[in-house]
Amino acid sequence: MNRDASKVWSTTCRILSEQLSKDLFERWIAVISPSRIEGDTLYLSVANDFYLGWLEEHYLPLIQDAMKKSCGRVMDIKVEVDGNAPPVVTRETPDPESKKKSLYRQVFKKKISLNPKYSFENFIVGPSNHFAHAAALAVAQNPARAYNPLFIYGGVGLGKTHLMQAVGHHVCRKNNKDICYISTEHFINKYVEALQRKKLVDFRKRFRNIDILLIDDIQVLSGKDGMQEEFFHTFNALFENHKQIVLTCDRPASEIPKLTERLVSRFEWGQVTQLEKPDTETRIAILKNKSEEMNIALPDDAIQFIAERIRSNIRKLEGALIRLSSFVSLTKRPLETEQMEQLLRDLIEQERQSSLSIESIQKSVAEYFDIRLADMSSRRRPKSIAVPRQVAMYLCRSLTDSSFPEIGEAFSKNHATVLYACRAVEQMMERDKLLKSSVHAIKQRLSA
Ligand code: ADP
Ligand code: MG
Repeated sequence: MNRDASKVWSTTCRILSEQLSKDLFERWIAVISPSRIEGDTLYLSVANDFYLGWLEEHYLPLIQDAMKKSCGRVMDIKVEVDGNAPPVVTRETPDPESKKKSLYRQVFKKKISLNPKYSFENFIVGPSNHFAHAAALAVAQNPARAYNPLFIYGGVGLGKTHLMQAVGHHVCRKNNKDICYISTEHFINKYVEALQRKKLVDFRKRFRNIDILLIDDIQVLSGKDGMQEEFFHTFNALFENHKQIVLTCDRPASEIPKLTERLVSRFEWGQVTQLEKPDTETRIAILKNKSEEMNIALPDDAIQFIAERIRSNIRKLEGALIRLSSFVSLTKRPLETEQMEQLLRDLIEQERQSSLSIESIQKSVAEYFDIRLADMSSRRRPKSIAVPRQVAMYLCRSLTDSSFPEIGEAFSKNHATVLYACRAVEQMMERDKLLKSSVHAIKQRLSA
């Protein structure tokens, strides 16, 4: 640690500790350690990506302000992940379990880095995640005997990583198994590193001899043929030795572009389960649970306000919660609706953009081509109707995060028809300039 850095940081912390509640300070600031100053940049480090993302998203401006006050000049701040940074859990309440807990943490630190908050206890169950939760719990209770592999898919911020790590925590507490949690990207980096250092044998020994492999964001394998080959063998070795594999993905395996067929089929061997967007009650329950966990007291109408406006991503729900509560603890003023709207403006705007509905696309396409809205789901086949319908399906696929079956349902077609339509429109656009510009024009109307 560089001495200047730690001096600047400690005065900055003093200012921040006056501005933030004790809890927020301990949760988000005390976990940071100063690393060095280079030129006009102060480098800070945190233990994992979770903190990195959170700090960048919510605390950087505040930190920057405090630093300006503390050292009288504007400095850039760069936050980095450093695996050796101080432990991620900072609030130590001594209790009889604490010795056990710290031992438990040590095991984690050595073997795997699991976020302590991503446990089953902290996972709120509702209709959107009921099956995925049940499947994950079954796997955690009976590794390699319930479902193998377990394939969890769903959109960003819907709890895939959380659920997967919950399996890790559960198993870790119960048995002495060798668990590996790794993102696919990290797995690839390790592989490349092993290749360069001629340590492939070690790499294989490591990954083919674990009891439970939790591999996150498997869609990253798309288009990486060599890596797919390697992972195929890792998968087989584990599977044949009755070791548990859990995978997460942002879409169904069959929709990962450029993924070898034999991996697609393996991913579908066991249990495939989806995380969907939570309904309002679940969102409220999640917000209440998070407030409790973070020791935040927000009035019910603020919770309601957030839950009604932020629907598609649980990480953003949390972001909104922190923002409002930081505001309250900074200003000590009650929250008016206008204030909340202003504080969450960008999140609400993102939500509006992402909530383009299938129906609004159908309407817009029908208007553009001057056909009846009812024809979007009719069985009529003249080209003057069939092509616009295909365009609408294509736009639904590219502009919303609906799956093929969901789109199919809205058009009274099956998912194969939607898949076919999307490919057909892509090909037509390459040949047909007029169609291409029509599609472009509709997109513009939709974003207006
Ligand atoms: P993904 O991996 O699908 O992008 P994450 O697992 O990282 O999403 O979840 C994003 C955030 O939302 C995390 O902070 C997680 O704890 C929280 N979260 C997601 N689902 C739930 C749930 N059902 N109950 C409580 N928190 C949840
Ligand atoms: Mg994730």
